[in-house]
Amino acid sequence: MNKQQTVIPKRALNKDDLIVITGAGGFIAGALTRYFHDKGFTRIRAIDKKPLPDWYQRVPGVECLPMDLSEKDNCIRAVEGAVEVYNLAADMGGMGFIERFRVECLRSILINTNLIEAAYRAGADRYFFSSSACAYNTTLQQDPDVRALKESDAYPAMAERGYGWEKLMSEMFCQEYWAERGLKTAIARFHNVYGPNGTWDGGREKAPAAICRKAIEAKDTGKYEIVIWGDGHQTRSFMYIDDCVKGIDMIMHCDELIATPINLGSSELVSINELVSRVEEIAGIKLERKYDPAAPRGVAGRNSDNTFIKQVLNWEPNTPLRDGLKKTYAWIEQQYADRKAGRRVVEETW
Ligand code: NAD
Repeated sequence: MNKQQTVIPKRALNKDDLIVITGAGGFIAGALTRYFHDKGFTRIRAIDKKPLPDWYQRVPGVECLPMDLSEKDNCIRAVEGAVEVYNLAADMGGMGFIERFRVECLRSILINTNLIEAAYRAGADRYFFSSSACAYNTTLQQDPDVRALKESDAYPAMAERGYGWEKLMSEMFCQEYWAERGLKTAIARFHNVYGPNGTWDGGREKAPAAICRKAIEAKDTGKYEIVIWGDGHQTRSFMYIDDCVKGIDMIMHCDELIATPINLGSSELVSINELVSRVEEIAGIKLERKYDPAAPRGVAGRNSDNTFIKQVLNWEPNTPLRDGLKKTYAWIEQQYADRKAGRRVVEETW
């Protein structure tokens, strides 16, 4: 979406410019914080409402602030002096969470609404919003044999109840802050992200982490069974975390993509049954599959059409699922062993 006839002033990001990352106690923003730190950025402010001991990652030299960003005053404090703001804070989880807690999901709109206004007033140069494939029209996702979703498929709108509508409305805020006020915004629609240092137990975890944990539990208990939500035929694509943070950086710094929602996801489609098979291979076991048709299962099929990202960035998330799953499995296995040995691990509870 181009602001009418505007010449976009170029401002290269300096290594000592202040970068603000919200939701940084969580999975993706935690990894993004480490990514910018490792790239040599020296002033990063990381914010999350969780108490510090519960953050998945604490990156040395990063200013960490536990604050609730649904509050306007906290948002003003959060973005003081910021050159770039990355908003990844949201009350969210896998299907089990977003189907059950729609009000919590919708209330995340307070975070983006207050944060983008604060960022604009503070004179931030760029603002990133983490949207989701759940913003897409659900009527296009009723068959496991899906046509991959392209960016225009969000409208006419029929987003996922609760969570998806919040994302769609917040996207619109980002588009209008550019159109009306000239704040450079970036909007990525993430498709399922997985990897180490994310939620793996407690109810908010997503399918890859949940299946890895169930396989590890089966090995540990000798009870070689797995309960699969739905009939296992539902299809998804899964993006490895390293691709996600790289994509965020590229999307945020591409002027052609200002205020333009874009898919950030893998296009390697698998069914949940196939995902279980991949995890079985890694674990070196076979599980007896039991299906729970009453469990939350989400849409029947969803994949990312990467035509647009390849055209604009000449890149798409490309870590093979098998490689990413191996690393994720190894990390969860270690977490599981640590917890069993009485060592502290970070878990979600709700
Ligand atoms: P996460 O739950 O691990 O991280 C989100 C963090 O936001 C949490 O640590 C939470 O404490 C924090 N938060 C929630 N409310 C807050 C508030 N009021 N103030 C401050 N912090 C608050 O989730 P994630 O997987 O890292 O997701 C990050 C972003 O990406 C979210 O916007 C999510 O909707 C989006 N997304 C994620 C996926 C995925 O597969 N993980 C897919 C699509 C979109």
